[in-house]
Amino acid sequence: MTQAQLMSGTDIARGIVETAAARAAAFAQAHGRKPCLATVIVGDDPASVTYVRMKRNRSAQAGIDSRHVALPAETTTGQLVAAIGELSTDPGVDGILLQHPVPAHIDERAAFEAIDPAKDVDGVTMHSFAAMAFGEPGFHCATPGGIMRLLDAYGVKPAGRHAVVIGRSPILGKPVGMLLLARDATVTYCHSKTVDLPAIVGTADILVAAVGRPEFVRGEHLKDGAVVVDAGYNPGNVGDVHFTSAAQKASLITPVPGGVGPMTIAVLLEQTVTAALTRTAPRTPPTARSA
Ligand code: NAP
Repeated sequence: MTQAQLMSGTDIARGIVETAAARAAAFAQAHGRKPCLATVIVGDDPASVTYVRMKRNRSAQAGIDSRHVALPAETTTGQLVAAIGELSTDPGVDGILLQHPVPAHIDERAAFEAIDPAKDVDGVTMHSFAAMAFGEPGFHCATPGGIMRLLDAYGVKPAGRHAVVIGRSPILGKPVGMLLLARDATVTYCHSKTVDLPAIVGTADILVAAVGRPEFVRGEHLKDGAVVVDAGYNPGNVGDVHFTSAAQKASLITPVPGGVGPMTIAVLLEQTVTAALTRTAPRTPPTARSA
């Protein structure tokens, strides 16, 4: 019997996108153009092509223009950095999304760092990561930011609770752990070298699975009443959590699809509109203190 309540990313994302669309419309009225998100893809990996198409469609629905740059799989790091550099200096572009992962021969970090931090609406640069880590204003990495918004929407309070994050990638596991830490959770990271992972998972009040392995976490691993966030998205719409067994132990759980995925796109769109408004805002004259 299922005891868990679903945390519907689809429902919560709808409200975030509606607000972003209203702000985008106000921006368009004031500036005579819509906010613009540039999407960059290297190669033709079918999953990445689908993700980018979905993000562009959602942008259009929210009144955000998109500009698409599709580069061949054999693109070099230098060529990709140059292409992103052009978008970074283009005044008509407000946000830049480089679809991850890029082909293995490319230095992904160098490519991410070519994004102007003011346009880093997917939150992938070191600047954005540092701002997040220090609790300073900046763009959140979209998926971790979306996860936090979903937890907030369902009244989950991380303070004092044990949060276990499986995965430590720079765009997902590591930043979501830091955002949970910033909310006073006690955070444990698990990864491929972790010894006795099931025992650690069994102590989690909040579990974030960001492993990239289908149905890696099973209900029997979980503590009764755990809050389970499945960030995984594997071929065939399968998450990193075995949903049926986990839903019998969890108090709250995200579905796949319809959980973290829509929240990621919603945060991306919200941050694109914020970037447009921030970049075009009149500069405040320096005060005596800041001059
Ligand atoms: P990634 O870069 O491949 O990182 C996977 C992480 O899982 C690594 O830290 C790795 O550990 C760890 N790991 C792998 N095998 C493990 C094992 N057997 N035991 C414990 N830890 C293990 O993946 P990612 O980009 O973070 O993505 C993770 C998942 O989230 C994927 O399914 C991806 O499709 C999904 N995703 C979803 C969204 C969305 O919007 N819904 C966005 C981004 C990603 P090491 O560090 O030790 O190698």
